[in-house]
Amino acid sequence: MTDNILTGFISHETATFSQRSTTMADFHNSTFILGNEIPEQMQNSNMEPAGFIKAAKIYDWQLIHTVAAVATSSGPVTQDAWDVCSGAILDAARAHKYEINGVLLGLHGAMAIESDFDAEGQLLENLRQILGPNIPIAATLDLHANVTDRMVKNSDILSAYRTHPHVDQIATVMRAAELLDQTVRGLIHPITIIARRAMITGLDYGRTTATSPMTELLAQAEILEAQDPKLLTISLCAGFRLTDIEQAGPSVTITSNGDNLEYTQMAGHFMNYAWEHRHFDSNTYLTTVQCMAKVQFLLGEKKPPQKSGPIVIADHADNPGSGAYGDSTYLLKSMLDAKLKNAAFGTLYDPIAAQILAQAGVGAEVSLFVGGKTDPKFGPPIFVTGRVLKITDGRYQALGPYVKGNWQNLGQSVVLRIAGVDVLIASNCIQTTEIETFSHADINVFDKAIVAVKSKQHFRAAFEPIASTILIVDCGALSTNNLSTLPYKNLRRPIYPLDLD
Ligand SMILES: [Zn+2]
Repeated sequence: MTDNILTGFISHETATFSQRSTTMADFHNSTFILGNEIPEQMQNSNMEPAGFIKAAKIYDWQLIHTVAAVATSSGPVTQDAWDVCSGAILDAARAHKYEINGVLLGLHGAMAIESDFDAEGQLLENLRQILGPNIPIAATLDLHANVTDRMVKNSDILSAYRTHPHVDQIATVMRAAELLDQTVRGLIHPITIIARRAMITGLDYGRTTATSPMTELLAQAEILEAQDPKLLTISLCAGFRLTDIEQAGPSVTITSNGDNLEYTQMAGHFMNYAWEHRHFDSNTYLTTVQCMAKVQFLLGEKKPPQKSGPIVIADHADNPGSGAYGDSTYLLKSMLDAKLKNAAFGTLYDPIAAQILAQAGVGAEVSLFVGGKTDPKFGPPIFVTGRVLKITDGRYQALGPYVKGNWQNLGQSVVLRIAGVDVLIASNCIQTTEIETFSHADINVFDKAIVAVKSKQHFRAAFEPIASTILIVDCGALSTNNLSTLPYKNLRRPIYPLDLD
């Protein structure tokens, strides 16, 4: 018999410290699709709805499509936008209450709305109230979820990504889908438990590009899953430190077939290891001064680099993917002051500058202030003179492993050549993870000596293979690692690294 599975996909990583709230316009600028439009538009992407469709074919499910909504990380989601996104799922649950056999959601796990900083907890709780205790609810999570007790209590199966950069969205859905199908057919009775420690950072921020406590525990999880048929799945989440909720931070959740004290102990062992290795960080963070010195050293070396390709610099602390404003000028100014040649910088969020430059037209030489308009303490506007090389509508399809197949939308965008640096100035604020971000504006990153990106880690998926060297800069903007600058109010205390070593 065909089972009816309610699906929905809402993804937003909310930096509650951001002054820029997230509106419906932000979802429309990224991804917002309703109902039966979802399969056509998303089945060829590497995002969760494509996994729902794949699972439905395998398990002979009839899917009830509701919403696919993604917005770039920023401040709390407005009530209006939340009502539209969550309402699509909850309304369908009410309408099909007596037909639904199970629920499979793609969620982030670190989303906050203005009235409730645990958005996913609220959504799962409301869904549980509508459907009752006997309809199984499975949810996938981003690896940076702040998994709350409310999320655990109101779901049966939780399954988080195992890669950062995130490239395993489909695999994560398939793990959850298999367990959901077995649950719907009465073959298993999943129970999920969670463990945390007094830490808001750890597990190397979830990175899986170097050997770290995260990769060690993930490997351990896979061994244990293979050995024990009752152990259904283990999820390790690094947490997201810019969401100010009590239960933010790293966690392990274990979903088992039936209750067993053994798994509570196992979860404790996982988190003890995370605590013991809390100081581990696979990145070396440079100031802008240190970074420019390193760049000059690398460019001045006599022998050719071991690997060809540009030096790629990540503006770690101004990563729009972590809710930062994307218009910090500290790194750009240091590159201009260093008189770098044959460099590219992308992207600088500044819709006002983009409009002025687009009006001036290709070839125009323009002097103006760029960047730094959201909060000047993260890098004030800088006065520059440059030539307009290219004007685009900012739309292109991403081809890198991170969001392959997805269309990105920078809004009206302009390439301004300022001395030796081609700066891509955008009207929408998004993390730079794709080579197509540059190539759509005729910037060939393969020919550049230096490429700077506003990203923290996801850029590695596309840029690590082409980079000769990667340098990470922490310029002190909103997504800095220096958490002492953030005014936490709700986070449990004491906690590492704010109060505890
Ligand atoms: Zn993430």
